[in-house]
Amino acid sequence: MVYGSIEAGGTKFVCAIGDGDFNIKERVSFPTTTPEETMKLVIEFFKKYQNELESIGIGSFGPIDIHRDSPTYGYITSTPKLAWQNYDFVGTLKEVFDVPMAWTTDVNAACYGEYIAGAGQGFSSVVYYTVGTGIGGGALQDGVFVEGFSHPEMGHMLVRNHPDDSFEGNCPFHKTCLEGMAAGPAIEKRAGKKGQELAEDDPNWDIEAYYLAQCAYNTTLMLSPDKIILGGGVMKQKQLLGKVYKAFDELMNGYVKTPKLEEYIVTPELGDNAGTIGCLALARDSKLHS
Ligand code: ADP
Ligand code: ZN
Repeated sequence: MVYGSIEAGGTKFVCAIGDGDFNIKERVSFPTTTPEETMKLVIEFFKKYQNELESIGIGSFGPIDIHRDSPTYGYITSTPKLAWQNYDFVGTLKEVFDVPMAWTTDVNAACYGEYIAGAGQGFSSVVYYTVGTGIGGGALQDGVFVEGFSHPEMGHMLVRNHPDDSFEGNCPFHKTCLEGMAAGPAIEKRAGKKGQELAEDDPNWDIEAYYLAQCAYNTTLMLSPDKIILGGGVMKQKQLLGKVYKAFDELMNGYVKTPKLEEYIVTPELGDNAGTIGCLALARDSKLHS
């Protein structure tokens, strides 16, 4: 008996097969092209395991429809990726695999992974952000995703400009929202080179930390979670967290007494595996199935 994991990202898909202890038996990755091409590869991968496949956990780029009573449940909805607009993701898989499927956002899946087996283990309220090509956020309260009419879109919260930052922002919807100011492509546009090519002491990291600190500040005031986990490619810059703590303290100005920042605002313990482990855990935990 095995579980399936699908991390459906905007740039690549990662599919995996694992057991109930999250030991990964096989993992493959391929670029996100058209639904026809990409889903064909997904289906081929899982077909090999069809006889032992218990369930599948899916974490998808979005926006997605998560409402079980909606006629478009399981669809990717208004994504800027045209080929995937109004695409029946879960339905397409269900035509081939008659197994329970858990369906949530990519960042919720990573949040779940960290909650079950990483930095959020043992805590009741966990928030996870990915800071990469975009910024996304997910929140869990006692093992259940925080959601209402839809899933959160925390990456597009508004932020105020760093006093030295004249970058106009590059979110196609809001220009200067968090994603528009602090995701990888914003860093690249502002600095003229990619984040991974900037020196550790480049002043752009102070600017970046100022926005991430606002993200943590807003999150703290909205949810008072036990953990705020910051993941994604940009957080591989180890000097960032310390700068975030400093800017966070200044913004908070003593108003809320949070847990010790080194234990409160952290990077993922599962690293790049948070999504895969999260999807396997979602597949395993039947209360989240459709
Ligand atoms: P994705 O969001 O596409 O799943 P990543 O989380 O790796 O993938 O995000 C990619 C973005 O993060 C790019 O804009 C890239 O420049 C930036 N990035 C990746 N690695 C680093 C790094 N080590 N330091 C700074 N920025 C990085
Ligand atoms: Zn935005």
